[in-house]
Amino acid sequence: MHHRSTPSPLDGIDVWDGHEPLGARRLAWAPSGTDASPDAVVSDLRPVPPSPRYEGLSVIPGLIDTHVHLIGNAGGAASGFLTWPLVTPPTEQVLHGLAHARQALAGGVTTLRDLSADEVQFSLARAVEAGLVEAPRLLAHGMVSMTGGHGDMFVPPGVDPRLRKPTADGVDACRALVRAHARAGATGIKIATSGGLLSDGDKPSWRNHTVAEIDAIVDESHALGLLVAAHAHTTEGIRIALRAGVDSLEHATQLGGELAADVIAAGVPVAPTLLINDAIADGTVAVTPDQQAAARELVATRDAGFAAAAAAGVDFVLGTDANGFHVRFGAQMDELRRMGEVFGWSPERVLEAGTSRAAAAIGRGASSAVGAGSGGAVLGRIAVGAAADLVVMHGRPWRDSGALDTANIVAVVARGRVVAGALPI
Ligand SMILES: [Zn+2]
Repeated sequence: MHHRSTPSPLDGIDVWDGHEPLGARRLAWAPSGTDASPDAVVSDLRPVPPSPRYEGLSVIPGLIDTHVHLIGNAGGAASGFLTWPLVTPPTEQVLHGLAHARQALAGGVTTLRDLSADEVQFSLARAVEAGLVEAPRLLAHGMVSMTGGHGDMFVPPGVDPRLRKPTADGVDACRALVRAHARAGATGIKIATSGGLLSDGDKPSWRNHTVAEIDAIVDESHALGLLVAAHAHTTEGIRIALRAGVDSLEHATQLGGELAADVIAAGVPVAPTLLINDAIADGTVAVTPDQQAAARELVATRDAGFAAAAAAGVDFVLGTDANGFHVRFGAQMDELRRMGEVFGWSPERVLEAGTSRAAAAIGRGASSAVGAGSGGAVLGRIAVGAAADLVVMHGRPWRDSGALDTANIVAVVARGRVVAGALPI
């Protein structure tokens, strides 16, 4: 066990709590009391006079990225996105995943949700939870994909089938794969209801799974307490996911018009993954001509549809799809600023997308049923009893989105520990 002294409180610093500014507060935290998980929660948040020591500084909750892929070469390789996992053993992949996670941490991100996890991410998540390594909290969804579906197409054709991720065809196989993921330690399930952009050889327009298979996956996941995140680019894919009762939409690139009303009525959050689709469409990352053409077609009408959907009230949350190759870990504040531009949001709505709303989207918000579970402090908020996941910054990003920049980070606190920078005390 780690024996940490509780840091001195930040006495008289400006706090934004995940919804609104609180003014100057005394901000202190303490171990949450469970020996099994070295965690810490905010223990004092009383109003106090502002301190001249914290002039120009503020504190916001640690950011939450609801959609990442930790496993890929963290060593800056310019090629080999598809082949690196095939020639790198899982033992080594874990270390690259940890390197990515730590890059995110330095960028103010204290929670990550990996959306195509296997034993590598499940192992890393357990090590983080036990306090063995300093990294963001890690939630990990296992993928259930049909053969030839989005999740099956990251391994080039011709590769030995034994090196592929498991797939599921037919209702019984879909239920069995959900159960296998739950058994291995998944905290959720990922499905695809359209094809993808980076998956090699399929098209966004391809149907993934039958309605009966998707219904079975969602039913089995919910029966086992697992949230279902649905990758969907097309309007058809979004409709299929909504009808099935999924818990979040990933990409939703063709969301707009009437469909926005359905998304709002369903109360489903949406991770728009703007930067990665921009980068693929612009060709500023290594992509094939087919990938670039598909992304261009999707992105051409995306921003107008997204702006209308945002104005209508769609619950967009931070989700970058960062994989260290097409979007780097640590670019989360860049993604949030881009969301603000495309959606025409206030700086405060931008911040909510990366904190309180992102927490609710992953079942860790103030009113989430999961919040009271094991190791389950409320995330994305600064409140007494909520997780001590904090970012101390220069400026007030709830007034000026330009201040939401990693260059302005003074310190990052995760689970009560200073993990980047230094507290101004
Ligand atoms: Zn993804």
